[in-house]
Amino acid sequence: MRQPFVAGNWKMNGSLDSVNTLLDGIKAGIGEVKEAEVAVCAPFVFIPKAQQKLNGSPVAWGGQDLSVHDAGAYTGETAGSMLKDFGCRYVIIGHSERRTYHHESDDLVAAKFQAALKAGLIPIFCIGETLEQREGGITEEVVGRQLDAVLNLDDGATLGRGVIAYEPVWAIGTGKTASPEQAQDVHAFIRNRVAGKNGAVAEKIRILYGGSMKPGNAAELMAKPDIDGGLIGGAALQAEDFLGICTAAN
Ligand code: PEP
Repeated sequence: MRQPFVAGNWKMNGSLDSVNTLLDGIKAGIGEVKEAEVAVCAPFVFIPKAQQKLNGSPVAWGGQDLSVHDAGAYTGETAGSMLKDFGCRYVIIGHSERRTYHHESDDLVAAKFQAALKAGLIPIFCIGETLEQREGGITEEVVGRQLDAVLNLDDGATLGRGVIAYEPVWAIGTGKTASPEQAQDVHAFIRNRVAGKNGAVAEKIRILYGGSMKPGNAAELMAKPDIDGGLIGGAALQAEDFLGICTAAN
């Protein structure tokens, strides 16, 4: 049995004030969440605040990206060891916004996956197709290629140390959720592809769905056999909505 996992991706949102309120709200309601493991991935500058507020709570915290390098002359970048220093457990890798706006390639994403593991962080590895790719009938080709960048590093053992997030780009922040059947089809494709390489990893790896997940559609999505939780953007910015999604896993 895979434990459900719900992770919030705050993206570049919030102020010190709003983050305080959000963290207090999550802490106040987390007792209602019985089944899911929960984490929030904050902008770098808010990570010490997340650590201060969430330390000793069941909620983990993490970053939204990391540098592929350990240290050195890389202005503006943040190393995995720095995230680890502030108690991060997770880091998002290869989010579609990084792939699009920062031109992150599959190879770079795979290198960041390895950098995260080296720093003792658990990568949340994002893959997903654009609307054009879906309409062009190449969803599996695209998702398969993105997945293979990490899956083919070895016998699948490296991939097995992370979490996968299937995020159809057309569903992120658009209010257009993939139907549970559409999402399940791709999740099953991903798990089968992993199984082709490593059955044990396929069985245990958690595959989250991300893309306009809300309290109202979370239970239906997470009821699907290969959907093990969610990566939540917009709805992670209000404690009530985020907790509503976390309790949908109960
Ligand atoms: C995301 O950014 O990872 C995401 C899933 O966003 P949203 O929930 O807003 O679609």
